[in-house]
Amino acid sequence: MFGESTRTIVVVGAQWGDEGKGKLVDVIAERADWVVRYQGGANAGHTVHIGDTSFVLHQIPSGILHPGVRCAIGNGVVLDPDTLFDEVDELVRDGIDVEGRLYVSDRAHLVMPYHKIVDAESSASKAIGTTGRGIGPTYEDKVARRGVRVLDLRHPERLRQLVEAGAERANQQLSSFGSSRRIDVAEIMGRLGELGERLLPLAEDVGLMIHRALKSGAAVLLEGAQGSLLDVDHGTYPFVTSSNTTSGGAAIGAGIAPTAIDAVLGVVKAYTTRVGNGPLPTELTDEGEQQHMRKLGNEFGATTGRPRRCGWFDGVVVRYAARVNGLTDLAMTKLDVLDTYDRLAICTGYEVEGDVLTEFPGDLADLERLTPRYEWFEGWQRSTADARAMSDLPKQARKYLDRIEELVETRITYVSVGTRRDQIIGL
Ligand code: GDP
Repeated sequence: MFGESTRTIVVVGAQWGDEGKGKLVDVIAERADWVVRYQGGANAGHTVHIGDTSFVLHQIPSGILHPGVRCAIGNGVVLDPDTLFDEVDELVRDGIDVEGRLYVSDRAHLVMPYHKIVDAESSASKAIGTTGRGIGPTYEDKVARRGVRVLDLRHPERLRQLVEAGAERANQQLSSFGSSRRIDVAEIMGRLGELGERLLPLAEDVGLMIHRALKSGAAVLLEGAQGSLLDVDHGTYPFVTSSNTTSGGAAIGAGIAPTAIDAVLGVVKAYTTRVGNGPLPTELTDEGEQQHMRKLGNEFGATTGRPRRCGWFDGVVVRYAARVNGLTDLAMTKLDVLDTYDRLAICTGYEVEGDVLTEFPGDLADLERLTPRYEWFEGWQRSTADARAMSDLPKQARKYLDRIEELVETRITYVSVGTRRDQIIGL
């Protein structure tokens, strides 16, 4: 997708996350100079398969798997320094050279041990189905203007004051939950001292670095985590994540101007999945069909192993995602997962009390009482795993894709037909 006039590309999930962004980012990163994560934290998980090795990356952009590509964690990310270095160490063990290629914004907020404990013990987090990794509480502190940023590690006295105040608040919360766990400030300060020694050499003004790189003609990929329907503003609130996953969040979270973005690629699965609670209009209601699709697609979370809820492709959702992200292109993944079906459905509208909605509603109450309107398609019932051009696809599969393009009003530029790097149409 990079070209003379396309220097900055955002890759976003256009459903509820787990669309296979990792694979697309990996493939596109080959031609990038920089890959930047702009929101979320260690609650995201990308799986990238290279040869027989699979890499699961939670915080480090998957561009790290390409030698020579520089990677950055932007100011919009909430950074868990503990797991960041676990990830770095694991990459190094697998022979990936990380030294001098990974930068962290000094404005990024840090996930503190007390954020994780509060998240794990809070019943509100459980009701939303969070991953319990402290992401929500860290963003809460950020918005409340009491967070701890990477740059605070440079100032031990300021850091101590922030940690003491954070620990006190966390202890009050824990006691209000009826939890007996308490925060030990000395232990946290000791750990931050050690982590700071490794983290501060990576800390930079990432926005400025990207700005300079763009000025000198670099190709920059901004990598989103989770999906558009989990965006705190545009998703199925309150069953959302705590950050802006959509393309607007990319500018904010990387520290560059919105006008610097040239293209936005939305990644979608050939069907729909969601992990955690909240509405999923096209969810398969038959338990047997649900398990069948989950098994075919291996729909279990990369971070938590949780089974994902599955359903047919929801054209209303992706049409909405195309609008709020300004998608210029779509990448469809996992088409191969549908290879054995004899018939497939696409949801084209929601029926609510006699009305048909074709635009995604903001009120969850509407989503709870709708009936999806489906259009049925003949299955192709043969393997697409070896297709490398649109013309290699069975005509039934092309028909299915054509209808999605039409509904979503966005061209399908890539189709992924397997987990391997080369199993893709459109490169
Ligand atoms: P992400 O966070 O959006 O990158 O998604 P995940 O990493 O959670 O899920 C993507 C999973 O689907 C990974 O295990 C990928 O290897 C796999 N995957 C990606 N594209 C395809 C595809 O076209 N076909 C199949 N069968 N699996 C795919």
